Amino acid sequence: MLQVGINGYGTIGKRVADAVARQPDMVVEGVAKTRPNFEAEAAVTAGYDLYAALEERADQFTAAGIETAGMVEELVAESDIVVDATPSGIGAQNKSLYAEHDTPALFQGGESDDLVDVSFNARSNFEAAADADFVRVVSCNTTGLSRLIAPLRDEYGIDRVRTTLVRRGGDPAQSGRGPINDILPEPKTLPSHHGPDVNTIFPDLAIDTLALKVPATLMHMHSINVTLEHETDAGAVRELLADESRLWLIAADLDVDGAGDIKEFALDMGRPRGDVWENAIWAESISVEGRELYLFQAIHQESDVVPENVDAIRAVLETEDAETSMARTNSALGLE
Ligand code: NAD
Repeated sequence: MLQVGINGYGTIGKRVADAVARQPDMVVEGVAKTRPNFEAEAAVTAGYDLYAALEERADQFTAAGIETAGMVEELVAESDIVVDATPSGIGAQNKSLYAEHDTPALFQGGESDDLVDVSFNARSNFEAAADADFVRVVSCNTTGLSRLIAPLRDEYGIDRVRTTLVRRGGDPAQSGRGPINDILPEPKTLPSHHGPDVNTIFPDLAIDTLALKVPATLMHMHSINVTLEHETDAGAVRELLADESRLWLIAADLDVDGAGDIKEFALDMGRPRGDVWENAIWAESISVEGRELYLFQAIHQESDVVPENVDAIRAVLETEDAETSMARTNSALGLE
């Protein structure tokens, strides 16, 4: 069993921990937190060994009546690999801790590409992470774009991708974030950072991205135009994308109007936390004019990177190939 430590137990960390716990070949060695809040209580209730991330705050756990298994250094030493899911920039500070213990680490999309040996998306470059010390699982938006680009590129070749990202202002629990009643071009300059980030996965891809932020917490929405190298038709593209396990083509007769319906459907289907691990692509939106492809996809920012983290663990530790790992992850999560 692969022993996986999780450092940072917030939006991404807790989801990765639960996903790892469901894998037949992995065990959660423990999770590290900075303070004894509701998520610490939930981690203990879930049965995870809880480690204190900061020496100076370790006493707070005891004072709150929460038992810890030790300090994060012990967790790193005991783990075969660590998933760092701390806020952007903190991962970079933690890198020396992982290096000291010779424990490979996965960072998240908020960290810079310079920090790591390779940026990762399971469908696009699984093998590149083999035996790496430091890997970055790319952001939610880059994951969503890469999953879509990979099969299109394999099948038709791509001349250029043009994408407008309508970004949620914050996650549901991020009450301090905005905008509250506004629509922000963000950044105002073009391209947004998303295109260059996709280039960490596909270095030679021509991609232009621009982004706006809106007062929503549910999901991001991408409006996509891909100029393919070869002509095709909408039916063929639908068939191609429907074959991809992490692309969900929303059938027209489901009558899904927007992100609210998608999240409601996920809850109705019993998905943990209402998570949507796949890109949600409106099948009706897939339109082709010659070589020009257009579509809308919604991306659940809190969860699409979760199966990617699970696959990155196997990719780094070289225990499975891409196809086997993705199938195993999907099946353990119920993503089929
Ligand atoms: P979060 O704030 O929800 O969770 C981070 C957790 O780490 C918190 O519990 C925080 O208390 C804890 N923490 C802070 N400092 C720490 C330290 N020194 N050691 C251990 N734990 C510490 O953040 P998040 O949304 O889960 O984001 C984590 C990473 O994932 C970021 O790089 C982010 O860019 C990336 N990411 C976030 C989303 C998203 O939509 N939330 C999507 C994809 C990728």
